[in-house]
Amino acid sequence: MKSKTLQQKTIVTPERKNVALVAHDNMKPALIEWAEEHKAKLIKHNLMATGTTGNLMQKQLKVPVHSLISGPLGGDQQLGGLIAEGKIDVLIFFWDPFEPMPHDPDIKALLRVAAVWNIPIACSVASANFLVSSPLFESEFERQIPDYDKYLQERL
Ligand code: PGA
Repeated sequence: MKSKTLQQKTIVTPERKNVALVAHDNMKPALIEWAEEHKAKLIKHNLMATGTTGNLMQKQLKVPVHSLISGPLGGDQQLGGLIAEGKIDVLIFFWDPFEPMPHDPDIKALLRVAAVWNIPIACSVASANFLVSSPLFESEFERQIPDYDKYLQERL
């Protein structure tokens, strides 16, 4: 399947979004600090996170967070699967640019699948600030996603 053979279709991302959060160990303090700062905006959405990130957020911020499997144990792949199923609308992913990770292929796969499904991604505090400051964070917005049904119709 080549990207030029795959047409796109428009879908509407709802006002209340499914927001996924992930932070590598060295980045967890930065994510917690960032999430504290933006707690009022974050709690308007459904929050989910990889295992340790989610448990930490829930404890420190006292907000409900649906915790998935821990990243190194498959959580990044689980998140990727949820993105492909259309169940995640935004990804905040503070990955560590200074440490090699045993689950590097999973991280790469997560970032790839997030790009395939064209969800907003923030990988640093500055980009996460941009993302939550956007009026689109609090409203519906349209985005393009691959139109696989159309692809099948034209191919088969
Ligand atoms: P964790 O996973 O939240 O379970 O630490 C994050 C990761 O390492 O990808």
